Amino acid sequence: MVGKKKVLESTKKVTKEPIKNVTDNSEGWSKSKKKRMRKILAREKWKAAGGISDEKLKQTSEPDKRRSNPERVKKLDISKKKLKNKKSLLNESSKNTLIESFKSRLSGSRFRELNELLYTTDSKTALEKFSSEPDLFEQYHEGFRNQIQSWPVNPVDVISKWLLRFQKSRKRQVIVADFGCGDANLAKELISHNDENNTKFEVHSFDLVAPSNENSQLVTPCDMANVPLDSDSVHVAIFCLALMGTNIADFIREAHRVLQKDGILKIAEVRSRFESKEYGRKSENNTSLLEEFKTVMGKLGFELKAFDNKSNKLFFLMEFRKIGIVPDSTVTFTAKACIYKRR
Ligand code: SAH
Repeated sequence: MVGKKKVLESTKKVTKEPIKNVTDNSEGWSKSKKKRMRKILAREKWKAAGGISDEKLKQTSEPDKRRSNPERVKKLDISKKKLKNKKSLLNESSKNTLIESFKSRLSGSRFRELNELLYTTDSKTALEKFSSEPDLFEQYHEGFRNQIQSWPVNPVDVISKWLLRFQKSRKRQVIVADFGCGDANLAKELISHNDENNTKFEVHSFDLVAPSNENSQLVTPCDMANVPLDSDSVHVAIFCLALMGTNIADFIREAHRVLQKDGILKIAEVRSRFESKEYGRKSENNTSLLEEFKTVMGKLGFELKAFDNKSNKLFFLMEFRKIGIVPDSTVTFTAKACIYKRR
C-alpha cells in the first residue's frame, strides 16, 4: 500500500513541474512510469508547437503539395466545372419538368372544364361558344387525345374495322356520315382504302370546329343537329363518343333524316353515361337510362339490331337500323355527363 502511494505522489510532482527530459528524473523509475512520462513529454511538446501533431502537420501540408502539382490542379478544376454543369443541368431539367407538369395540369383542368360544358349545354350554345373561340376547341381536343391514349381500345378503330368488313360484304361504295368526328381519324383511315379505280368510301365528317391539323380539310364545321347533307343520302351514320350536349334527340333525328331507308346507325358511348340516373339506383319509373334510351330510339325511328356491352369495359357499341316511321318531334333525351377524372 505504502509503495503504491509513494508512486502516485511522485507522479503528481513530476506532472506539475515542466518536463525537460525523461531521463533527467528517471532514476529509480519503473519501466511503465518511464513510458508514461515519455507520453506526457510528447504531449507537452505538441502543445508548445501550437497543438499540431507531426502527423497532422504532414497531412495538412499534403493538399498544398497536391495543389502545387499543375496536372492535378487542372484535373480538379475540370471536375469542379463538370459538377457545376451537372448541377445546373439538373436544375434546368427539374425546372422544365415542373413547368411541363404545371402545363399539363392546366391543360388537363381546362379540358375537363370544356368537356363538362359540352355535356351540359345544348348544341346551339356549344356551337356559338366554340366557333367564336376556336382555341377552346384545340384545347378540348388536346385533352381528349390524351384521355383516349390511356384507353386500351379506341372505339374509332373498332368502328373502322366494322366498316371495312361491311364494305367488303356489300361490294359497293359506302357513304358514311361521322357526327362529332373530332380529328376525323375515321375518315382518314377509311379513305386510305380508296384507290383510283375503286372509291370504297365517301366520308362526311362533322364537328363544331375543324381541327387545325392535316385532317382539317376533311371536316365540315357545323352543329350536328343540322348537317349540310341531303335527306336519304347516307348508308351509315356514326356517333363515336359524340352524343354530347343536352339535345341528343335532335342529333338522332338528324341522323334519321340523312340516312337512306334501312340505313345503319352506329353508336359508341361511354358506358357510365347510361347507367341509372341516380348512381346505384334505378330511376323513378324503375328503368335504367339505357332502357330509356332504347325506348327513345324506337320513337325516333330506329330499331336496335345489335348491342355489345361486353367487349369493352369503358364503352358500349349499339347498332340500329332506320325504320320507316316518322320520328317523334317532341321526344327529348339527355345522358349523364362523362366526367373524366384527374390523372
Ligand atoms: N368521334 C371522335 C371525337 C369524339 S369527341 C372520336 O371518337 O375520336 C366528341 C366530339 O363531338 C368533339 O369533337 C365535339 O366537338 C363534337 N361535338 C359535340 N357536340 C357537337 C355538335 N353539336 N355538333 C358537332 N360536333 C359536336
